[in-house]
Amino acid sequence: MIPPTPPIKELQAPKDWRVVEFVSDLHLRREEPETVAAFRRYLHESAADAIFLLGDIFEVWVGDDSMDEPGSFEAECGGMLAQAARQRPMFFMHGNRDFLVGAHFEKRSGVRLLGDPTVLALGGKRWLLSHGDALCLDDTEYQKFRAVARDPQWQAQFLSLPLAVRRAQGQSARQQSEARKHSAQAFYADVDSAAALQWLRSAGSQVLIHGHTHRPADHDMRGSGGEKAKRVVLSDWDLDATPPRAQILRLTRGTLERIDFVPK
Ligand code: MN
Repeated sequence: MIPPTPPIKELQAPKDWRVVEFVSDLHLRREEPETVAAFRRYLHESAADAIFLLGDIFEVWVGDDSMDEPGSFEAECGGMLAQAARQRPMFFMHGNRDFLVGAHFEKRSGVRLLGDPTVLALGGKRWLLSHGDALCLDDTEYQKFRAVARDPQWQAQFLSLPLAVRRAQGQSARQQSEARKHSAQAFYADVDSAAALQWLRSAGSQVLIHGHTHRPADHDMRGSGGEKAKRVVLSDWDLDATPPRAQILRLTRGTLERIDFVPK
């Protein structure tokens, strides 16, 4: 059973946008300064007219008030993004790690929040953007957690806890997730094709761009009516990996291209 398609937001690109770029799954954290530095350099050097951050930019995010804590990693990231957002429009979509990014972040950084999914209308084409986690239907345990964690009441309750308590809980959730990843039961659900096709049909789009699975690839799909569609999966970033990963998806005049930001 495919769950109902969520409401699809629409973003009409201004006529003067020539190049837009998409990144996701950077999983930024203080303990991985190389990845943070590469992202900072990318934001500074990119010539894109707009940059879309499609989720899990942060390894963990326990509330926007963390940005107000002097010297915090979140304050540092907020400053970096604010500088980038003065160069060109920046957009942010929630991932499963940073779903608590909210209005205060938006105000402080100047980065605009996007609903998941959002269809980007650009150059006469419609590009459906998502983090991708909502489409990994086979991971029923995660979908149950997602339903709870995206509930405004649950979020309000969590955000009412002291920041230090939230940081500790975020840390332990992260450790549990790491332990699960390394356990024998490790199971990586992929995006459900039927659900992806249903979203695309609702959006009037033929191309879905998403991250989350850390399995960068282009998948051709075909709907039940024979209609052609494509699923373009973003890479995660890890500058400490061999070889380092820092891939950008660039859209120029209707054509998508993968750019490796770090020379191999
Ligand atoms: Mn994710």
